[in-house]
Amino acid sequence: MDLPNIETYLRPTNLQAVKTWSPGWSWLAGGTWLFSEPQPHLKVLVDLEKLNWSEIEVTPEGLAIGATCKMEKLLNFSYPESWTSVKALQSAVHHLASFKVTNMATVGGNICLALPVSNFAPVMVALEAIYEIINPTSQSYRVDAIEFQTGAQQTILQPGEVLRKISIPLPNLEWLVNFKRIAITTAGYAASIVVTAYHPQSSQVRFGLGACVPAPRLIKFSSIPTSAELSEALLSEISLSEFIEDDKASASYRRQVTQILMQRSLEEILCQTL
Ligand SMILES: Cc1cc2nc3c(=O)[nH]c(=O)nc-3n(C[C@H](O)[C@H](O)[C@H](O)COP(=O)(O)OP(=O)(O)OC[C@H]3O[C@@H](n4cnc5c(N)ncnc54)[C@H](O)[C@@H]3O)c2cc1C
Repeated sequence: MDLPNIETYLRPTNLQAVKTWSPGWSWLAGGTWLFSEPQPHLKVLVDLEKLNWSEIEVTPEGLAIGATCKMEKLLNFSYPESWTSVKALQSAVHHLASFKVTNMATVGGNICLALPVSNFAPVMVALEAIYEIINPTSQSYRVDAIEFQTGAQQTILQPGEVLRKISIPLPNLEWLVNFKRIAITTAGYAASIVVTAYHPQSSQVRFGLGACVPAPRLIKFSSIPTSAELSEALLSEISLSEFIEDDKASASYRRQVTQILMQRSLEEILCQTL
């Protein structure tokens, strides 16, 4: 949709060209969300495209994804064969929307929009990704994915800060993964997303949870949990009042389906190892 209140459109080729930042300014990535609804508070859009931050890199430390990497690009990249966990990134793309959105929308845009239903946030949390953020004085700092989103459409980003890069450490790329998403209606928003990561050598298990809670959560086990341990951890680490309650599903329904998805997801991964 048109955003008639936008007065200025900037397309910098380097970040230093953005000398000031004021209320009413917004970064523009793929624009799939920004142009999907009125943004009456915005006056200036700063387009990230010409900064050329769309890389996917295999580095000695692991996988690096530039913030403006289009989601679709994750499907076609040639990853090292042993990087089994990139399947979770690809599932996040497949479960998101049609190619019309995934050809335009960026990985960084999804993470920074910080919708509770973000497909990428629970993946990044389960794979213990690290985000590189640049502040208005061009200094960069790194933060664990689990620290980034603090609520529904809330992140730690301060005005003028921008997500530059997402890194997934090498050891985490060799975990086995499973992505589960459930919605009340076929084309509806997710009621729960569970991303399970399992390390066969150490038997460690991590669950990245999304959509059932306002911001993604991580539940970790040092060995394969029994069904009872899994259910006990979910009950003790996330209180019922932290689950989303809305017109689509109650908090107790979301908690219940999340527990079932965790169990099924783990079972499916373990079957692969037999
Ligand atoms: C109707 C609808 C339904 C959707 N359903 C789902 C869903 O079920 N699951 C899901 O995961 N997603 C869903 N989305 C979100 C979709 O994935 C987003 O539109 C997309 O991820 C946003 O990416 P973009 O690159 O187009 O970002 P933009 O629309 O350009 O930007 C989104 C927001 O992120 C900020 N931003 C973008 N990049 C950066 C950066 N590098 N640093 C700092 N801030 C930045 C922008 O300022 C803006 O506030 C839905 C979107 C729509 C419109």
